[in-house]
Amino acid sequence: MNALSGIRSVGVVGGSLGGLFQAVALADLGLDVTVWERSAGRPHDRGAGIVLQPSVAWFLKMFCGADPDRVSVPVTHRQFFTADGRSHRTPMRQQMISWGSIYQPLRDKLDHGRYREGQLVDALTPRPDGVDIHTGDTVRPVDLAIIAEGSSSRHRELVTRGGDPCYAGYVAYRGVIDEAELPEALGAVFRNRFSFFDGDRTQFLCYFIPGALGAVGPGTRRMNWVWYVRADEAELDRITTDRNGAARGLSLPPGLMAPPVHTELLDRARRVLPQPMRELVEHTREPFAQAILDGRVPRMRTDRMLLTGDAAFVVRPHTAASAMKAAEDAIALFTALQQFPSPEAALDAWAQNRIAEGTALHHRGVALGRRLGLNGPGGTPSRLPREGRRPL
Ligand SMILES: Cc1cc2nc3c(=O)[nH]c(=O)nc-3n(C[C@H](O)[C@H](O)[C@H](O)COP(=O)(O)OP(=O)(O)OC[C@H]3O[C@@H](n4cnc5c(N)ncnc54)[C@H](O)[C@@H]3O)c2cc1C
Repeated sequence: MNALSGIRSVGVVGGSLGGLFQAVALADLGLDVTVWERSAGRPHDRGAGIVLQPSVAWFLKMFCGADPDRVSVPVTHRQFFTADGRSHRTPMRQQMISWGSIYQPLRDKLDHGRYREGQLVDALTPRPDGVDIHTGDTVRPVDLAIIAEGSSSRHRELVTRGGDPCYAGYVAYRGVIDEAELPEALGAVFRNRFSFFDGDRTQFLCYFIPGALGAVGPGTRRMNWVWYVRADEAELDRITTDRNGAARGLSLPPGLMAPPVHTELLDRARRVLPQPMRELVEHTREPFAQAILDGRVPRMRTDRMLLTGDAAFVVRPHTAASAMKAAEDAIALFTALQQFPSPEAALDAWAQNRIAEGTALHHRGVALGRRLGLNGPGGTPSRLPREGRRPL
C-alpha cells in the first residue's frame, strides 16, 4: 500500500511550466489529473532563454519522450568580456533551451479534456480529504489541489502566511534577435559560447537558443541576451510604463518600450558595454524588461493543498534554476507518492524536502545578486506589490 491509494484525482491550478510538470508526472502515475489555466490559447512565449538543467532534460526525456539534444542549443565554453572588448574563455558544456521548447512537449502530453484553458479558478474550498475547485458556476471535488499560479498567486494565502514576492532592486532588460538578422561576424563572436560581462553593479549575458518554432540548426536559432541594471521603484515604474502610457507593473512585453526608455537603454549600452554586446542591444528591435523578485514561503502544504513553482519560491535568475525547481517539485511528488505509505506522510515529506531546496536556492540567488552589486539599497528588498501594481 502507498499514498496513491488515498489520492485518485488531482486538480492543478495554473497551466504554465510549474503546473504542466506536475500534471504530466502525476498523469504518468495513472491519476485523474485536470489542469485549469486562465489564459486561452498558447501562453505567450516570453521569447526567453533558459539554461537546460539536467533535471529538466531528464523530465522531458522520461515523461515526454523528447530528446534534449534535439530541442536545445549546446555551448562548449563560457566567455568573459572586459569593458574594452577583450575576452577569455574557459571550457564548460551546457545546453540552452527556450521557454517554448520546454512548454510544448509538456503541453502535448495533455489532451483537451485534461487541460482546460480560458478557465480561471476563483476559489478553493478545503474538505477533510480533498479540495473543491470552483470555476465560474462549476465545482469540481479533487483529492489533491496543486497551486501553480506563479509569483502573483491569489490562493497562496490558503497554504501559508507570508511569501508574497518583494522587488529585489533591479531589472532585467532582455532581447531576442533572429540569428539570420545578426551580422555574420557578430554572430561568430557568440556561437557555442555562454558570454558574460560583469561591470560596475551590472551584468550582461547572452547565448543562442532555439528558433521560434524550436529549430536548432545553425542560422535558424535566436540570440538571447539579458542585462541586469539597478533601478529603484520609481525607475522601475518608468521603465515598465509602456509607449501608450499604461503602467505595466512588473514587466514590459516586447514591442511596448517607451521611446525615451529605449533611447536611454541604447545610450547606456554605448557607455557601459563591451562592443559586441553593445551591438546586440543595437540590433534588438523590441527589447523588453522585467523586475527581479524574491519570493519565499515558509510552508508549501496545508491539508490537501500544495504550492509549486513560482507560487512558492521566486528565485533570482542568476541561479538559472526557476524551471529546474518547478520540474524538481514535480519529480519529488511523483517519487514521494510511490514511496510513502499514506498521503499525509508523502505530502509532508515532499513539503519538507521542497522547502529546504527552495530556501537554499533563494539564499544562493540573493548572494549572487549581492556579489554582482545588484541588490537594492542596503541589500534589503523593498516590499511589493504596491496597491495598483499589475502582476507579472
Ligand atoms: C515574464 C517571465 C519571464 C521568465 N523568464 C525566465 C527565463 O528566462 N528563464 C527561467 O529559467 N525562468 C524564467 N521565468 C520563470 C519560469 O518561467 C518559472 O519559474 C517556471 O516556469 C515556473 O513558473 P510557474 O508555472 O510556477 O508560474 P508562471 O509561469 O507564472 O505560470 C502561472 C500560470 O498560472 C496561471 N494562473 C494563475 N492564477 C490562475 C488561476 N486562479 N486560475 C487559472 N490559472 C491561473 C497563469 O495564467 C499562468 O499561466 C520567467 C517567468 C516570467 C513570469
